[in-house]
Amino acid sequence: MEAYLDHAATTPINPAALDAQVQASQLIGNPSGSHRAARAAKDLLETSRERVGLLLGVDASEVIFTSGGTESDNLAILGSTQDGHVVLSTAIEHHAVLEAVRASKGRLVGVASSGVVDLNQLEDELKDNGASVRAVSVMLANNETGVVQPLSEVLKLVRKYSPKALCHTDAVQAPSYLDVAELAKGFDLVSISGHKFGGPKGVGVLVIKKSSGLRPMFYGGGQEFELRSGTPNLGGIAAMAVALQEAVTHREANVRRISGLTERLRRGLSSRFPTIKPNGTEAPQMCNITNYCFEGLNSEEILFKLDALGVFASAGSSCASGALNPSHVLLEMGRSKIEALGSLRLSLGVTTTEEEVDYAIGAIGDVIPELAAKKGTAWG
Ligand code: PLP
Repeated sequence: MEAYLDHAATTPINPAALDAQVQASQLIGNPSGSHRAARAAKDLLETSRERVGLLLGVDASEVIFTSGGTESDNLAILGSTQDGHVVLSTAIEHHAVLEAVRASKGRLVGVASSGVVDLNQLEDELKDNGASVRAVSVMLANNETGVVQPLSEVLKLVRKYSPKALCHTDAVQAPSYLDVAELAKGFDLVSISGHKFGGPKGVGVLVIKKSSGLRPMFYGGGQEFELRSGTPNLGGIAAMAVALQEAVTHREANVRRISGLTERLRRGLSSRFPTIKPNGTEAPQMCNITNYCFEGLNSEEILFKLDALGVFASAGSSCASGALNPSHVLLEMGRSKIEALGSLRLSLGVTTTEEEVDYAIGAIGDVIPELAAKKGTAWG
């Protein structure tokens, strides 16, 4: 038996999306060409763009295809800022945003213990920096805790103090669970990534509102409205558009089902570990992510033991060597380093079954007391 509880890391490809990818990959034309084979590829590219635009509530001409969430986030931040501009973001962003903000010498706003951005601090930063703020980036839902950020409040503050600033949201974790079109309404820049909602890896979107005036990061043939040169990944794009359609069409039913499974998971684990409480439950949270701190234990050891039992999950951020650092998100929420080093993220998705959840509860119920006994700590 195996239980894949790592859908926030990546999702299994949707069968209809896979079909679309195979079919699109058989088209031989380059969409930039002018002969019939090229036009067939161009048609599919533009149909996919229109489809994505409709699903995200924007014009097709505002949909820029990229290589994924990391590129979309980097293009949003690096493309909007130059020397002398201020970029503001939050300290709990994914590294794709955090590192781009650091490279731009930007400023980070903290969060409350609930994981929600500190709007007072954001307001102070906006007041202090006013017209020099060029971009503000606040994620829609956090990838470690699932906490949903109050984007409409953020937007109001930005428009009040820095009306010319571009508002960006990293909505990468959201499309299967939240109405991105509604929640990110009014934002100038929105990132999504195909592999987080049943599409292939290595393809994404940055929505760029027409008035944004973004500079490209790649120069070349001028594809994607001069904003992202390079021959587009047509197979990936066609598949991502189908996956997004599926995610949006079935979102309500999936959210209902996955909420039930998450509830089952949490109940099962709290009956084994009565003192445990998931992180981020005091704020609005997506239905699929549960994050625990097993204080005194080591995430790496937990994951290793679970892996041996066929349960696949994650912890906080890992660095390039694979070694675990304490999660910056949990530290920002006021968790101690020891708590953060024992974090476990269990993320469900559209393919998750009750059997997987029950199997994972059993495996975690065995592994935690075993590791705790070795360390002489209190779990189990
Ligand atoms: N932003 C968030 C919130 C994510 O969860 C991820 C991936 O984990 C990314 C950005 C990066 O996306 P990609 O893997 O497509 O580069």
